[in-house]
Amino acid sequence: MYTCGPTVYDTAHIGNLRTYIFEDILRRTLEFLGYHVKHVMNITDVEDKIIKKAKANKQNIWQVTKPYTREFLHDIQELNIKPAHVYPTATAHVPEMVKLIRELEEKGLAYEGKDNSVYFDISKFKPYGKLVGIKKIKVKDGARVDSDEYEKNEARDFVLWKTKKKNEPGWKSPWGEGRPGWHIECSAMSMKYLGKTFDIHTGGVDNVFPHHENEIAQSEAATGQKFVNYWVHGEHLLVGNERMGKSLGNFYTLRDIEKHGFLPLAFRYLALNAHYRSKLNFTWRSLGGADSAVWNLWRELGRMKFVGEKEALQTKKGKLNEHRKSFRAAIEDDLDTPKALSVLRRVITDMEITANDKRSLVFEMDDVLGLSLQYADKLSKVPLHVKTLVAGRELMRRNQQFVKADSFRNKIKSLGYDVEDTSYGPFVWPNRKLKSHPKI
Ligand code: AMP
Ligand code: ZN
Repeated sequence: MYTCGPTVYDTAHIGNLRTYIFEDILRRTLEFLGYHVKHVMNITDVEDKIIKKAKANKQNIWQVTKPYTREFLHDIQELNIKPAHVYPTATAHVPEMVKLIRELEEKGLAYEGKDNSVYFDISKFKPYGKLVGIKKIKVKDGARVDSDEYEKNEARDFVLWKTKKKNEPGWKSPWGEGRPGWHIECSAMSMKYLGKTFDIHTGGVDNVFPHHENEIAQSEAATGQKFVNYWVHGEHLLVGNERMGKSLGNFYTLRDIEKHGFLPLAFRYLALNAHYRSKLNFTWRSLGGADSAVWNLWRELGRMKFVGEKEALQTKKGKLNEHRKSFRAAIEDDLDTPKALSVLRRVITDMEITANDKRSLVFEMDDVLGLSLQYADKLSKVPLHVKTLVAGRELMRRNQQFVKADSFRNKIKSLGYDVEDTSYGPFVWPNRKLKSHPKI
């Protein structure tokens, strides 16, 4: 599975992160169903915006890209996204890209322009447009484009190799010093790590055209083989009903989410609560709801642990498999995560399953959902001084000293914990406002 990764000239926004979450769900689902997945995600570390920033900061491109790459990997970790097995960077794979361009040139599909930049001749590749649907694009014969991003739905000859301009980084090539275009990067690196034909290629919907269309053209023209068996694209995250985007300036990052006091995993929950092929409009209010939902899940799991140590019920026969089946059916149905979450909630409220069985079933489901539900066990470790206060309160309650018991409850609350009286005794749980939660 190959995923178009970030262009590391800035912090990823949560729109980008929505796409990486969907790709993570795809990978986790395949693994859950017993497939072995090799996941490759590229890091674009040379590109116009990177060069521009490097020039402005009087730095080299790696001084720009290294910190953003580190930050990206940190964001991925905070969202509990499984790391890819390989993160190839563009600048470390220039020879592979040059080789691919040479092959295209030898086959007559690439030509050198006046400035020694090299272009792909789309008129020579008949199936051009098969991914996006040829009717959706206007083919501009003979016209070409030397930037990586171009006018919507206008097909032109696109650049494979860009001649070095003054004060730009460059690599040696048969066409003189220069650097690769964006599209060739993904063709060369995906085929290097996954072979000429591989199973799954993912990205956001904006990648379909031109990026993925061009990847198909370059790869299939060079190898004469099918490039990818399945293309899977995720829909956009919107804000104010407009696509969230760097250039539009309407974006938030994971840092913003943390600054607002929300869990990064709340964003993961929010993303899972919408189908990956539907647009999702981001609001702080819905993120707040997702944050409470994650917190409540942890609390429910803590309660199950507490109850499980004491209850003497038995799970009704067949119940576990019934839920397992519904969960599996949901994720197998084009990754229906909203439905999978509703199965999870049904399990939690099912009176016919013991607390211990519920816990293990929910943890099984979390292999796909990735909401760090095991974290509940860390949260359930209540410090001794709080436990002592809870025991004291219990004693007072039994002695009918309710006013005193209440003052203890308030003291416990001020330390960041809530007490809930259950038929199995008092259940204590840190509340959302507790400052020093254990690390997830
Ligand atoms: P970029 O760093 O711009 O190449 O984007 C990285 C990934 O994020 C690509 O797969 C894009 O398709 C995706 N992406 C960009 N904007 C959004 C958005 N608003 N919502 C979801 N995914 C997005
Ligand atoms: Zn790509």
